[in-house]
Amino acid sequence: MQQEKMFIDGQWVASSDGKTRDDVSPIDQAVLAQVPLATEEDARRALAAAARAFRDPAWASMDPAERGRLLRKVAALIVERVDEIARTESLDNGKTLREAKGDVLFAAQTFEYYAGLTDKLEGTVIPVPGPRFNYTRREPLGVTVHIIPWNYPFQLGCRSVAPALAAGNTVVAKPASETPLSFLKLAKVMEDAGVPKGVFNVVTGSGAKLGPVLVGAKETAGVVVTGSVPTGMEVLKEASQHIVPVTLELGGKSPNIVFPDANLEKAVKGVAFGIFMNAGQMCWAGSRLLVHESIAEAFLDQLVKLAGTWKLGNPAEKDTRMGPLVSMKHRESVVKYIEVGEKEGAKLLLDGRKAAAPAEGSYLGPTIFTDVDPKMRIFREEIFGPVLTVTRFSTDEEALALANGVDFGLYAGVWTKDLNRAHRLSAQLESGQVAINEYPVTFPQTPFGGFKQSGIGHEQGLGAMQFYTRTKSVMVNLST
Ligand code: NAD
Repeated sequence: MQQEKMFIDGQWVASSDGKTRDDVSPIDQAVLAQVPLATEEDARRALAAAARAFRDPAWASMDPAERGRLLRKVAALIVERVDEIARTESLDNGKTLREAKGDVLFAAQTFEYYAGLTDKLEGTVIPVPGPRFNYTRREPLGVTVHIIPWNYPFQLGCRSVAPALAAGNTVVAKPASETPLSFLKLAKVMEDAGVPKGVFNVVTGSGAKLGPVLVGAKETAGVVVTGSVPTGMEVLKEASQHIVPVTLELGGKSPNIVFPDANLEKAVKGVAFGIFMNAGQMCWAGSRLLVHESIAEAFLDQLVKLAGTWKLGNPAEKDTRMGPLVSMKHRESVVKYIEVGEKEGAKLLLDGRKAAAPAEGSYLGPTIFTDVDPKMRIFREEIFGPVLTVTRFSTDEEALALANGVDFGLYAGVWTKDLNRAHRLSAQLESGQVAINEYPVTFPQTPFGGFKQSGIGHEQGLGAMQFYTRTKSVMVNLST
């Protein structure tokens, strides 16, 4: 049995009380490794190490261009180890190997992007009255805490760690209990790249137990959480203890809106991809299809046919399109939502419970509900699985009201050839991202953040560098 260690202060360590958790693969329930269950003391040790490293000249006085070279080395090592990291991620999370490779390469690109920004954190000179010189400095925050979800553990963890390090901060990361392994591989990459000790730390274990310690600590100067809305609410309370800035990347219930003038073949593929990729476990899943009534029948015919071809199976096999959900427990929660939908009176067009799949894994096939009313729970609540709801509309105004009629606001898709309509709707949709004629898509340089209950702040792009730095104004009196 593989015994994993955490990475604290440049050392590979067990938890202080020796406790571990069996890390189980959703593919066949095999125990992949025993992973340390960090204690509160371990979390405090990681914070103290990160605080020391932040002040240590080895990091604090490093030439920013040198920091950039170090992050490029991290990116290169990730690329070199893509097969190993992706295999680990796929076994741990259940996602297909092909998707896992894409995630890992995206993470490497994120490090490359931010490596280019380390020496571009410029201040400004501000015109003020009198013989005075007023300028601003951009400074790193200090110790940053990164709370990571299980759906894209490596990619989303790197999404926040890369800009935090690029800006000169230090990091304590906590991967989700379900999927800790790939981030331990990132720790090995950091060690091999020569990142100074204490700059990057990983503690593994329970979020409910470690979260309050990490987020509420006096050393913590910035927090980023990617997770569910209830976790985001808890973290806001925890962060209020020391008034710490927080980025929250939370859930979604995103609409994919299809108009009659769209390229329907492309739209069918995009809608399927948008809800069934990663077995539907995506914050930005296009989980609500809003389709114009004049094309609904034909569109759904094609969609059901296509979804029926998405093969479930071992994520390592080339023709597998969907692996298992992350755990049996999560599968149960998604299946409960399917039962809720049935009770609410929605019509099942495709039932993922009946899909052919290996018996030993937590598999669930593509599921499509039609005749979904906006009052139904399956229309309003995040299911976080391969379950699509379909609602028909007749006018643009109706589509917009349906799209905006939920508490989330992460992502929205619009399928139309009418440019006026596309841009008009983009302005009116209450969501942090709008994708026109493609779903979903993002790049490291593209801002990513949610409106309403989908979150606060942004990841990716230049905006993340703003979050990981603070602005200091310096006023110099020049009178003699
Ligand atoms: P989760 O909220 O259960 O857990 C996320 C992380 O928070 C885990 O590491 C967990 O251990 C930790 N945590 C739990 N309680 C905590 C506490 N009190 N304090 C601090 N940390 C705590 O979410 P999940 O099930 O891992 O991920 C799925 C959710 O994440 C979905 O809602 C999904 O939409 C969302 N998500 C959002 C984005 C985005 O970019 N907006 C991306 C991916 C996932």
